[in-house]
Amino acid sequence: MKTIWKTKKQQTIPKKFQWKAFLIFIITLLVLFAGTTEILSRRTVTVTVEVDGQVTEEKTAKKTVKELLEENYSINSFDEVTPAPDTEVYDGEKIVVHKAKPVLLVDGCTSSFTFTQGETVREVLEEKGITLGEIDDVIPTLSTKVTDHFKIQILRNQVVIEEKLVPLAYQVEVKENRTKDSGYKNVLREGALGLKKETYEVIYQNGTVSGSSLVKETVLQDPVNKIVERGTQNTVVTAGGERISYTKELTMKSTAYCSCKKCCGKSPGDKGYGITRSGEKARRGIVAVDTKIIPLGTRLYVEGYGMAIAGDTGGAVKGNKIDLYMETHEQCLAYGRKEVKVYLLDQIQP
Ligand SMILES: [Zn+2]
Repeated sequence: MKTIWKTKKQQTIPKKFQWKAFLIFIITLLVLFAGTTEILSRRTVTVTVEVDGQVTEEKTAKKTVKELLEENYSINSFDEVTPAPDTEVYDGEKIVVHKAKPVLLVDGCTSSFTFTQGETVREVLEEKGITLGEIDDVIPTLSTKVTDHFKIQILRNQVVIEEKLVPLAYQVEVKENRTKDSGYKNVLREGALGLKKETYEVIYQNGTVSGSSLVKETVLQDPVNKIVERGTQNTVVTAGGERISYTKELTMKSTAYCSCKKCCGKSPGDKGYGITRSGEKARRGIVAVDTKIIPLGTRLYVEGYGMAIAGDTGGAVKGNKIDLYMETHEQCLAYGRKEVKVYLLDQIQP
């Protein structure tokens, strides 16, 4: 402690330095005064600010348009400000602000949020430097007016030519063989698939297929038809175990008749007694038919009766009926009425 005191007491300032300190003090005062004058002399100006048509009067000491707007308005770089933000404000000035509208822009698969001065969809796209391809779609239409929180969607369309190979089916040709039974089947030639090229215009919308149309078909290889041989001969096995072929099968109502008066209205000795329509003498194996269904002279096989020939007619034998000749009237009565299958053995005119 003693030592410090001693040191302080010994410290004396020479007169030459005292003057210098005084001068520095004066200069400092002058500088401070000048600064204060500058601040005090900064004028306060009155300006009008119009934001999207809404006018406000502002008293401000701010130096530039930008500073003024930053104080009371939320302005972003997309907003249009007149005069330019970096210019100095002056008393009575009118500052006009066109606020940019926020829009959601979906271009293809990319979404972005931005601001725009564009009035219509078309103007927004021009402002953002977005070009539309010839077949691209935009929603809503280009002339639609932009409102706040607007969404513009651009559907990027692309037409791609695509080719597809498609097999061509073959037909089955049937060759009838009358000499073979109806169950007979034989492959004469195997079929082979052909091949064609289909050309499509496929429309991709934002990378996803949205439609396609067939524009061309080219056959690269014709198919080869399969050829099958099929027997057409119909056969039936008789009661005697013989297989015979027939041309037509009929299901008919059958009755039986003999030469008696009850059956034919004639007694032995009468003219034409026992003579059939064909002129032949009536006998087992001659049957009466409607000649519109079975022509006279047609050979038949009648189920349950046997081989026969269509050789007679009768007043009651019309349509799908057949009358079978029997030797005695008792046999006729015993036969009664039956539905039978009648096979025509000869080709008849349809
Ligand atoms: Zn009879």
